[in-house]
Amino acid sequence: MTGYKPRPYKRTCCRCGNFRFATALFPDGHICQACLRAALRDRGACPGCGRDRPLIGRLSDGTAACRECAGITREFTCQHCGYEGEWCIARICLFCRNTRKLDALDDGSGCPAVELKPLADYLRAETNPMRLEEWLNLPGTRALLADPATGRLDLSLDALASFPDWQRAAYMRDLLVASGILPAVDKRLTSFESSRQPRRRRRRGCSRTRAAAGAG
Ligand SMILES: [Zn+2]
Ligand SMILES: [Zn+2]
Ligand SMILES: [Zn+2]
Repeated sequence: MTGYKPRPYKRTCCRCGNFRFATALFPDGHICQACLRAALRDRGACPGCGRDRPLIGRLSDGTAACRECAGITREFTCQHCGYEGEWCIARICLFCRNTRKLDALDDGSGCPAVELKPLADYLRAETNPMRLEEWLNLPGTRALLADPATGRLDLSLDALASFPDWQRAAYMRDLLVASGILPAVDKRLTSFESSRQPRRRRRRGCSRTRAAAGAG
């Protein structure tokens, strides 16, 4: 029997030999998540069918082979884009999930604003989509993407420097630089400036409080 067991249980992994939570049951045994991910990264010409695919299964002599040649029924292929590999444990790959969330870059026309298209392309090409997904899931990230898309935030270093959440703005700045929208910056200078932002705001807040107290 092969397939996926959603209920977590510990078994000896057939690949690494460790006693861990099993992610899947393949013909050669239970497999832990780390070994499943490693197997999905192990891409090459399958000795059984000759196709270039992740070699996640094992033939009877232990040779790495593709899913079908090894008799694995569970699929690791995205239903939307056809990608098969590490980033598609479920039925939709991380690249497609992230692309959906990039609709925040939409300027209202159904497409990313022209000046933000390099950013959209860069994000879609992210080689570690898990890092991108974590960032996209942070509260406030959608607003940070939507603001330049709708013209509420200028695509400039000065505008980002005054953004209330300087940590998120710093990551956005890195993305805009990496995608070629903004010129490369001296990070030592900008991180020093960014680290001063909360203190500046606190000081401004205090002076407003004092002014308000004085006025009253
Ligand atoms: Zn393992
Ligand atoms: Zn094969
Ligand atoms: Zn996909």
